[in-house]
Amino acid sequence: MTPPSTHTFMCPECRRSIEVDDAMRATLLETGCVICGAPVTEEDIGGAATAH
Ligand SMILES: [Zn+2]
Repeated sequence: MTPPSTHTFMCPECRRSIEVDDAMRATLLETGCVICGAPVTEEDIGGAATAH
């Protein structure tokens, strides 16, 4: 039983925080923030299971 892999994305520009899955994560990295359009880097999308 493997739970879906989710990540917490927090936009450095508009400060919105949303839960994303792997597909959404890839989309964000490619197209930028869905809310404000700011460029997104992998650092902005932390893994939910990984503590920093
Ligand atoms: Zn944003």
